[in-house]
Amino acid sequence: MNIDQNRRKIGFLGLGIMGSAIAQNLLKGGFEVTVWNRSPEKCEPLAEIGAHVVRSPCEAVERSFLTFAMLADPAAAESMLFNPDGAIREDGVLNGLSDEKGYIDLSTVDPATSRKVGAAVSARGARFLEAPVSGSKKPAEEGNLVILSAGDESLHQDALPCFEKMGKKIFYLGTLGNGARMKLIVNMVMGEMMIGLCEGLGLAQAAGLEQEDFLNVLDSGALANAMFRLKGPQIGAGQFSPAFPLKHMQKDLRLTLALADEIGLSLPSAAIANECFKKARQLGSSNEDFSAVYKSLV
Ligand code: NAP
Repeated sequence: MNIDQNRRKIGFLGLGIMGSAIAQNLLKGGFEVTVWNRSPEKCEPLAEIGAHVVRSPCEAVERSFLTFAMLADPAAAESMLFNPDGAIREDGVLNGLSDEKGYIDLSTVDPATSRKVGAAVSARGARFLEAPVSGSKKPAEEGNLVILSAGDESLHQDALPCFEKMGKKIFYLGTLGNGARMKLIVNMVMGEMMIGLCEGLGLAQAAGLEQEDFLNVLDSGALANAMFRLKGPQIGAGQFSPAFPLKHMQKDLRLTLALADEIGLSLPSAAIANECFKKARQLGSSNEDFSAVYKSLV
């Protein structure tokens, strides 16, 4: 096997909404993709279009030059390497790694989780990069994500051919932790904007205005943006099937507030937004789209 062939061997762990769309684009882009997911049935659609399915994260890493992970949260990201008691997971990522190989975590986590995973990967002589993504289900399907990469720069260079199949814009942000920080800050703004949109829609209706007119007015001026344009009509129609699950939005706000807390910065609006999303979870909207926060506000 020549070097180029070896570099086209990609592992993918985590086939949720985002992971399955990204893995599909890698397959379509000509990479040889090995997939693993905790719930194995989610591997089936990928297997049908040519993915090789394995039974453990370790096997995926062993078969691959680069392995990507796209998991729910810090606990899930850590579970690829460690057991709940902190011991190294026998069939986990670490036991499949060796020199030259790269592990790239696309999940949205906090900087401390990234550093912990990075240190464990480096201790095996392998390379680690965090690369959380901005953009939701549709951009993931269309290969239009924004990639926020940080960590080992040689691995960033090696991952570029894959990133180019996933995203329209690729940032390299330097030290490990900067990708996580950037992603959390962007999602804080998004969460707060969603609360504003929902309150606006609710008040417009309660004040006797048409929600559609309100959205058209918003879209005609400086507040026009892709998120309001996409989510506004869906909220109006009561459609909350998940593109970005609400539980993940609340996780991101929780992690953002912890980041600000470490730095000693007060974020009153983010704290209120977090409470709004927590309330929505309490009312049963965890697995709906994050726009379902509307139902807990109006
Ligand atoms: P999702 O559909 O809920 O998928 C979550 C994935 O994590 C699934 O593969 C799930 O496996 C796995 N998982 C959860 N807990 C696990 C555990 N303890 N051990 C092993 N695997 C576990 O979420 P998603 O929307 O794809 O999001 C994935 C990540 O991307 C999150 O960090 C999210 O914040 C971030 N993100 C999401 C979006 C979006 O719009 N959806 C956009 C940007 C970033 P099972 O299938 O077995 O449950």
